[in-house]
Amino acid sequence: MLDNLISLPTVLVCTFLSTLVVAIFLAFHWLAGRGRLAAGYWCVSMWVGTAASAFLGLRGIIAPELSIGLGNALVAFGYSLTWAGFRAFDERRVSRLAVAAGPAAWGAAYVLSDSFAADMSLRVILMSVIVSAYSLAMARELLLGRRREALPSRRVIALLLATHAAIYAARIPFALFAPVADGAAVSPWFAAFALEIFLHTLIVAVSVLILLKERSEFIFRQAARSDALTGVLNRGAFMEAAARALSRKPQGGVLLLLDLDHFKTINDTFGHQAGDKVLCRFASAAIARLDEGMVFGRFGGEEFALLVPDQDLDEAVTFADRLRQDTAALSVGHYGRLISVSVSIGVASALLCEGDLDTLIAAADCALYRAKADGRNRVGVAGPAESLMQVAGRMREADAVAGNRSVAL
Ligand code: GH3
Ligand code: MG
Ligand code: MG
Repeated sequence: MLDNLISLPTVLVCTFLSTLVVAIFLAFHWLAGRGRLAAGYWCVSMWVGTAASAFLGLRGIIAPELSIGLGNALVAFGYSLTWAGFRAFDERRVSRLAVAAGPAAWGAAYVLSDSFAADMSLRVILMSVIVSAYSLAMARELLLGRRREALPSRRVIALLLATHAAIYAARIPFALFAPVADGAAVSPWFAAFALEIFLHTLIVAVSVLILLKERSEFIFRQAARSDALTGVLNRGAFMEAAARALSRKPQGGVLLLLDLDHFKTINDTFGHQAGDKVLCRFASAAIARLDEGMVFGRFGGEEFALLVPDQDLDEAVTFADRLRQDTAALSVGHYGRLISVSVSIGVASALLCEGDLDTLIAAADCALYRAKADGRNRVGVAGPAESLMQVAGRMREADAVAGNRSVAL
């Protein structure tokens, strides 16, 4: 009944055509430079898969050394190249030895052992081991990459690859206990597995195209969230991440506003380019100090903000003072001249503001204002009564100015 439904040559022709179409699509991706190396590996693997299904499909028409020997070696090579593509996708080194291992194992067994070449069950078992191993390795690569870049489809594609590995491994007991060939024709179970390969080819093809697309989206999203000069979060992204962190712990967390001292003088004395360099060096020094969970961003100009969700006020003040000292120890070289830098920091606890980010920023701003007024290169802390009064006062002032402006308009 199954053999009436599934014809092996038809399945092989379908596999040939589908790999061909995907190979053409991936060639465009590769040439367009999207996910360059990975797309390259995947593209070549699809062309190799196309050739493999052509050789396998010509079984009985061309010499068995070509249809079976070379055809299966190409299948193994197609899988190893697809695996290499998954490694390249996550910028991991691709071992040539590992790429060659599968096709070489098949080639060696086929060429060196006549009994292996003549025994279809043994051939099925070796190919199943090779395909399952590479498919499992692909699933592993995808999951490992999640830590660095959590693309939405990684998990589901890894699951599909692992399922394919399991299905292929299931061919081994079949080959051991059920005849692979029924006279000149292959057994229906073998044809059913070939149908699964066709399906799997389609799944891999769609998967790699989805991954390349998700990678592009991820890069665009990252670019929209980060500051072009320093690479840290930009103001919008900082506000979003800080609001999210505060909503998880409304009473916890401390905000630091960091403003480089006399930055205009640095620009005026050494040039704008030197100022840019100072901003980058300052951001890198601050990042080097950050602990997990802290949210750091550039607020604008020479002003940065840091939300410390897991420290109380005293700990955060000590942390801020360390950042201040790190900054004072920076000396940025520019065309043989050394630029010294210092930073003033305003610190405010979320306890003062019941987790409202705007009020928290205003309180930290008051503390920063005081640090500047007290001589710069220091840390100012927003105290409860004082800061709340100042915040209210400054907010009223800001409202009044906005009101005057709107009247003037
Ligand atoms: P204070 O100690 O009171 O903070 O003084 P300041 O000079 O640091 O502050 P002020 O607000 O007077 O000047 C900030 C300067 O930062 C003015 C602006 O031209 C410069 N600036 C803003 N963004 C950038 C940037 O991306 N690169 C460079 N090089 N300069 C910038
Ligand atoms: Mg400044
Ligand atoms: Mg400023």
